[in-house]
Amino acid sequence: MTSHIMPTYGRLDVTFTKGEGAWLWDQDNKRYLDALSGIAVCNLGHAHPAVHQAICTQSQQLLHTSNLYNIPKQEQLATRLCQLSGMDNVFFSNSGAEANEAAIKIARLYGHKKQIDNPAIIVMQQSFHGRTMGTLSATGNPKVQDGFSPLLDGFIHVAFNDVAAIELALKQHNNIVAIFVEPVQGEGGVNIPAPDYLNKIRSLCDSHDILMMLDEVQTGIARTGAWFAYQHNNIIPDICTLAKALGNGVPIGACMAKGKAAQLLTAGKHGSTFGGNPLACSAALAVLDTVESEQLCQQASDKGSAINQAFSERLKNNTHVIDVRNKGMMVGIELDKPCTELVALAVSAGLLINVAGEKNIRLLPPLIINNEQIELLVDTLSSLIDSYTK
Ligand SMILES: *Cc1c(COP(=O)(O)O)cnc(C)c1O
Repeated sequence: MTSHIMPTYGRLDVTFTKGEGAWLWDQDNKRYLDALSGIAVCNLGHAHPAVHQAICTQSQQLLHTSNLYNIPKQEQLATRLCQLSGMDNVFFSNSGAEANEAAIKIARLYGHKKQIDNPAIIVMQQSFHGRTMGTLSATGNPKVQDGFSPLLDGFIHVAFNDVAAIELALKQHNNIVAIFVEPVQGEGGVNIPAPDYLNKIRSLCDSHDILMMLDEVQTGIARTGAWFAYQHNNIIPDICTLAKALGNGVPIGACMAKGKAAQLLTAGKHGSTFGGNPLACSAALAVLDTVESEQLCQQASDKGSAINQAFSERLKNNTHVIDVRNKGMMVGIELDKPCTELVALAVSAGLLINVAGEKNIRLLPPLIINNEQIELLVDTLSSLIDSYTK
């Protein structure tokens, strides 16, 4: 059968028909353990009753009006996000890339306000910020950019987790207005920087009067064991972007800003037809309530450590396993060779995983995964790794 979908994804040949918690079922009723959560989206698992209820109730009242009018659910969600994050205000979008576009536009406005005509943003190698022209230009991966030149100007790529490289760029260029970084690189291969990396970036941004912008599209909403990954460092950025888990599957993104960064996007400077509509905001409010009531930050922290420990123990005699690492429920298992084939082998074994940066198995389980499911994950995947590396 010819597909009429543009072939932008190399899809695995499996069709899911329903889900519950960390489980998914395909059309033949085969059950799968989901250790990927639709790439850090379904942090509450599938078919969570609170999200279901919120969507049903809201859709009976209103799906959409317009940002031309007041939207109380959007106000509530913004207030809630600012309380949780320490930020001042929020622009709502429909995706991570769009949240990042807002961040990039704010950085440029900030530069022009300081009379810098050609503002530049420091971004990282191996980073991922999205697929729009702006965000793919910021992304530090030639594969994402290949074929799309001319790219957007104004990004300076430096090595990740390398403060000296940032300092050097700041010395070499006098037009830098912001540093834009993921607290943990997801697509780049679960790259966890030094514990004080973000603190040092915060200091550099303060001393150079530039914006600290965090892409928390993947790390945000309890994934790393805190509401936002920067909270592990006791700092507050000037900009923080969110998407993925914010709606647990309902598309919504957010660009949160603080202080001087919060005053720049004024009337007429930015917009979105769907951004922050009543349906998406109701879902997000239910997500935030659930993360709080089910104490999912603590759970992500505890379960992430338990998963790391269990894999480290199980795989300690496998010399092809280079590293097992985690920040909360972002788990990376690094092998000494490319391992993309493991993804399909895992599907056959009833397990959903991902490989990022070619040699890193990436696990992003739903934060509600239970101990039995964690055991199954560790058993199944360790056996697959052992037979794959033999
Ligand atoms: C997924 C992701 C994006 C892009 O989000 P989309 O919703 O696909 O546009 C941006 N940044 C990071 C860190 C991501 O993980």
